[in-house]
Amino acid sequence: MPQLGQGMLKGMSVTLKHLFGKKITRQYPEYKRDLPERSRGMLTVDMDRCIACLQCMRVCPDHCISIEQTKRDADGSGKAKPYAVGFVIDDSRCMYCSLCVEVCPVNCIYHTEEFEAQAYNRLELARQFGERPVDPTIDPRPTVKKKPKKAAKKAPNKDEAA
Ligand code: SF4
Ligand code: SF4
Repeated sequence: MPQLGQGMLKGMSVTLKHLFGKKITRQYPEYKRDLPERSRGMLTVDMDRCIACLQCMRVCPDHCISIEQTKRDADGSGKAKPYAVGFVIDDSRCMYCSLCVEVCPVNCIYHTEEFEAQAYNRLELARQFGERPVDPTIDPRPTVKKKPKKAAKKAPNKDEAA
């Protein structure tokens, strides 16, 4: 027959052991651990370097990036060049695949160490970087163009064939 109170003593011994042992619990979110090397956080864009080539928008498989392009002499060279007047990244769709980062010719879009994307409304996860807001509900690559179906060939009429 098991002795009375044996289970309680056993439990208390475990508690005492952890009380004086090395702490392994981190008080998140007050204290955050260092992220592993090459981890991918939320994206950001350096708009001063962006050349509005639209490659990131085109390559994104989830259609997260929408850019409104215009032409402007932003560098004072006297020649109007493509300029991203609106730039939005929709974090609610992003899967952190990094394709947009790889394709950018001037390395101006990149991952940060920020990973806490939360909002009460999905649209709040669309972060605007340009001077003019872009509607994130409009898909930048809306449709896969379907070829119109060819009309089925008619079977030859018996009278015509005779
Ligand atoms: S990381 Fe991938 S899913 Fe996210 S915006 Fe870039 S290409 Fe799109
Ligand atoms: S690929 Fe780079 S330079 Fe081109 S539009 Fe995107 S962020 Fe701008």
